[in-house]
Amino acid sequence: MTYIHKTISDLKHSSPAQAEFYQAVEEVLDSLEPILESSACYQQQAIIQRMVEPERQIMFRVPWMDDNGNIQVNKGYRVEFNSALGPYKGGLRFHPSVNASIIKFLGFEQIFKNALTGLAIGGGKGGANFDPKGRSDAEIMRFCQSFMSELYRHIGPTTDVPAGDIGVGAREIGYMFGQYKRLTGRYEGVLTGKSLLWGGSLVRKEATGYGAVYFADYMLADRGDSLKGKKCLVSGAGNVAIYAIEKLYQLGAVPVSCSDSRGALYHEKGIDLVLLKQLKEECSECLDKYLETHSDAKYVPVADYPEDGNAVWRFTAEAAFPCATQNELSETDAQALIANGCVVVSEGANMPSTAKAVDVFIEAKIAYGPGKAANAGGVATSQLEMAQNASMQSWTFEKVDERLKEIMKNIFDTANNTATEFGQPGNLVFGANIAGFKRVADAMIEQGIV
Ligand code: NDP
Repeated sequence: MTYIHKTISDLKHSSPAQAEFYQAVEEVLDSLEPILESSACYQQQAIIQRMVEPERQIMFRVPWMDDNGNIQVNKGYRVEFNSALGPYKGGLRFHPSVNASIIKFLGFEQIFKNALTGLAIGGGKGGANFDPKGRSDAEIMRFCQSFMSELYRHIGPTTDVPAGDIGVGAREIGYMFGQYKRLTGRYEGVLTGKSLLWGGSLVRKEATGYGAVYFADYMLADRGDSLKGKKCLVSGAGNVAIYAIEKLYQLGAVPVSCSDSRGALYHEKGIDLVLLKQLKEECSECLDKYLETHSDAKYVPVADYPEDGNAVWRFTAEAAFPCATQNELSETDAQALIANGCVVVSEGANMPSTAKAVDVFIEAKIAYGPGKAANAGGVATSQLEMAQNASMQSWTFEKVDERLKEIMKNIFDTANNTATEFGQPGNLVFGANIAGFKRVADAMIEQGIV
């Protein structure tokens, strides 16, 4: 049994029933053989065993009262995975599917993503199995306050700085920040994704979607191509998807789809972004209402999805941007994309493609940007928000956007050059994993056995 296989097998024993977490670990470790072979120090220092074990995992009860006076109880999490490069940094997810496996997969991915940005941020993730859908504003506030009543003792501007993720936007960050300030008496940059009125950064809300599109354009430029004029499939209809669609239009591409947990929308002429934003503000689950304005669009409810995949990926386009959730793009979806002429996939979501789907993209040698590289624009801009908070400055939209572009270009170059250096040119999964690993591992070695 190789060192890597033994590590995975031990992990399955020590952390049972965490399928998403194993998937994320296997994807990284599969890339590391060449670097482990070339440098014995990583094995001698037990770097892999140390990296797959979070520095700290916090699980807690979140009791709160709903509008009918009933007491509700949710489970809260914060996994502080790795602080070799800086304070733990990573979002909070509020979604009924949240469990220890999902938070650990996200936290593990975050270590390498944050390392790739070149910034001084470690990896962490958190959240709760709370479903915000259908909850009143007052219920959301009470939940956020209860969540922060436990979390506040574990976080701080130089220790752990959470941000948003699925189900956590500026409103939730506001309620959590208010409670943190009330409990500690400190007004400090402990959360990112804050409102522009009180410490937020311009471009933060757009950053993940914009970044995934910049990344796609850099991948294509390297192949003498561009997004201009390309038909693009986007999944999701949340923060990441909306701003991916916005940037695609700005770069002259035509985004033709979006989706949510109830179904997929296709509009050959291009998604009406103004209407989409309006629909998402009015209600969280009414994408089908789009047809009332555009009868030439098509809506496929989840019940009619192909058994082995997602309807969004069965439309014809040259580019794909998965921006909803993990494992939303199956092997069969990947094959359909390739057969229909897709030449670039850039992941706005975290681990949206299954392991087998990734193999299909690598095999076909299309331009494939894995989430940990392609969606790092969000966390990178969070770090720019921290820098502005620490120096009491507010940068212009143009300045932050320029920095975001530079960071995405650097991430692409780092992953691309590393892939070439280690003998797999064009394989950005390989390049991103090795480059991220090397930065974290070398810092861990220099900091001793901690
Ligand atoms: P939002 O909550 O704003 O939007 C999520 C979107 O995905 C919604 O349209 C939602 O539909 C859909 N969705 C969520 N779960 C499912 C599911 N199980 N099946 C189908 N559709 C689903 O989240 P974000 O846009 O912020 O996050 C999207 C992805 O991007 C996540 O993977 C996240 O981890 C990743 N990401 C986000 C970053 C950020 O800065 N926000 C940074 C880096 C990565 P519905 O409303 O019906 O639930």
